[in-house]
Amino acid sequence: MSMAWSDRRVPMPSLDEMLAIEVGCDGCGRGKRLDSGALARLCEKGLRQISDVRSRLVCTECGERDRLSLIPVFRRAEQGLRTSRAA
Ligand SMILES: [Zn+2]
Repeated sequence: MSMAWSDRRVPMPSLDEMLAIEVGCDGCGRGKRLDSGALARLCEKGLRQISDVRSRLVCTECGERDRLSLIPVFRRAEQGLRTSRAA
């Protein structure tokens, strides 16, 4: 597989491109999902990229902040996975 573009020229995905962010904590093993409503609130606080979210996020269970994994869920991918939309 060849990369057709340089990573450095691709801007970081912005939060408004994401449907949700799956957050997993390596400290306590808990996970949660920041849904579109949560992402909208983060945008209102001026956060624009997933790196901004990472710098703000703290695990509510154990207080871990350095070992959180953030996996963005993009609209395109979600559309392929879901057949119906929960209101
Ligand atoms: Zn934790």
